Amino acid sequence: MIVVYDELYRDHLSRVAHPESPDRVASVAAHLQAQGLFNRREPARDATLQELELVHPRSYLDRVARDVETVGERAGYLSTGDTVIDGSSLAVARRAAGGAIVAMELAIKGGCGTFALVRPPGHHAEPARGMGFCIFSNAAIAAHAFVEQHGGRALIVDFDYHHGNGSQAAAGGGVSFTSTHAYPQYPGTGSAAENALRADAAIVNVPLPPDRYGTEPFVATWQRLLPEVAARVRPDLIVVSAGYDYAAGDPVGDLDVDGPLAARLLAQLIREVAETYAAGRVVYCLEGGYDIATLARSVEETVRVHDGPSQSSESADPASIGAPQRAILERVAAWSS
Ligand SMILES: [Zn+2]
Repeated sequence: MIVVYDELYRDHLSRVAHPESPDRVASVAAHLQAQGLFNRREPARDATLQELELVHPRSYLDRVARDVETVGERAGYLSTGDTVIDGSSLAVARRAAGGAIVAMELAIKGGCGTFALVRPPGHHAEPARGMGFCIFSNAAIAAHAFVEQHGGRALIVDFDYHHGNGSQAAAGGGVSFTSTHAYPQYPGTGSAAENALRADAAIVNVPLPPDRYGTEPFVATWQRLLPEVAARVRPDLIVVSAGYDYAAGDPVGDLDVDGPLAARLLAQLIREVAETYAAGRVVYCLEGGYDIATLARSVEETVRVHDGPSQSSESADPASIGAPQRAILERVAAWSS
């Protein structure tokens, strides 16, 4: 699997104690290297202003630049929300968004899966409001860049523990969004009442209980959700907001899910759906995942699935899906018919 990575990603918050640490991507890169899975590494580039403006207004880009200049060598908060920044943050965030775009372009070129091993993460960054460790909305920018370059439709698939409020806010214009997330945990959005089927986008949230859901129900929910949404949207590209903080023991998330096992089963499902609808084109953008050993093992599983032979995903028991989740899935299925 092609992995887009840049040493610059280690600069953001390099002198601050923070769960969204440089060690996250550095450790994943070292782990993939040790496993012999980092041979198809590609460099990132900076997203252009025009590309960032596919999602973010110029006034927000100016504000980020001002905030970063103000904090200088110290660390402080982005003025729009709970994202810690330092003097490197604008440069690193631009390259993270650019890494997602490069990975998207390589997925299109190769008709394959690619992985943008980027930070800071992006899915909480709304068009005019960075928050939740995020500055620019990497996955949404890559999805909109695809639609702008190629036309067609992109589907953002967000399996992070947290709701991707930023990606949802950027949906439209051919970019759809579907997510499972703990609810009403941070950021508090993502109820099924926000679901919508519009001409230019579908938004499908399946909120999960915040503390315990478990591997079988988590995987079974996705095995029912993703084919339904894909049948409705018929995406030409899948963009995955790959947050692995659903894993048991994660200090920020934790849905009591076996992290690496779920990563493998989700990747099998996503690959299968991408091959059915999107000519195999899928780009993973790293979001959360704060237990570093589990994060590295989980990304390894994702990469191995996409490097291996094409196969059907192993079925989880649909009877394990929670009753509230089942009710939402039934409403989504009724949309599709
Ligand atoms: Zn998260």
